[in-house]
Amino acid sequence: MFSLQNVTHAYNGATVLNAASWQAAQGAHWLMLGPSGSGKTTMLHVLAGILRPTAGQVTVADQDLGALSPSALDRFRGRHIGIVLQRLHLIDSLTVLDNLLLAQYMAGEPQNPARAREVLASLDLAGKANARPHELSHGQAQRVAVARAVVNKPRLLLADEPTSNLDDVRCVQVLDLLLDQAKGCGATLVIATHDQRIKSRVANHYELTAVNEPRAVA
Ligand code: ADP
Ligand code: MG
Repeated sequence: MFSLQNVTHAYNGATVLNAASWQAAQGAHWLMLGPSGSGKTTMLHVLAGILRPTAGQVTVADQDLGALSPSALDRFRGRHIGIVLQRLHLIDSLTVLDNLLLAQYMAGEPQNPARAREVLASLDLAGKANARPHELSHGQAQRVAVARAVVNKPRLLLADEPTSNLDDVRCVQVLDLLLDQAKGCGATLVIATHDQRIKSRVANHYELTAVNEPRAVA
């Protein structure tokens, strides 16, 4: 479903990511594990095509991301990749429902309020369709971000540290809803985490180790 070959990334000449190759099957569930600073967020951005790696090849759903123009990459991401980042990036001037309709629009899909309401209902948010993001609890806002990530039935669903600041009960709930939503659209799921509590719940593990290269001297 996706594959990474020889991917490295450097910020300002300092290598932070030197990733072992990785192949994931459609519908498989993965944890991307590693200590803080090991490059998990960077890797997730690379997989989403938000960040072009310094070197290497990233293929998602048979598409080489490096071959796409910036605007084609934005459309491809909107159609096929759902992302739940640590900062949720909900748009506060729009209602919850309109945040989902905007995600459809950005993907070049016809607006489909019925699909948006169906996803909200599946995340126990039916009553919040007309609320603004700032009127929600953190847990509700995080579920809206999940709803927005899955509204276009992505083939790849990515989440960055979705459980790290949660108590044990909510940790299990969030993990379950990500697994449920991924199953619902047959998406490949990648959760970047250093949360040891969820290790046993997800079948496949990809480990990142910190890159200990000396920083480039200018
Ligand atoms: P993790 O998510 O595993 O904590 P990150 O991918 O956030 O790791 O960061 C990996 C390394 O890259 C860290 O040393 C971090 O300081 C550095 N880094 C992350 N983003 C940037 C950036 N935009 N510019 C410069 N360095 C960055
Ligand atoms: Mg991170």
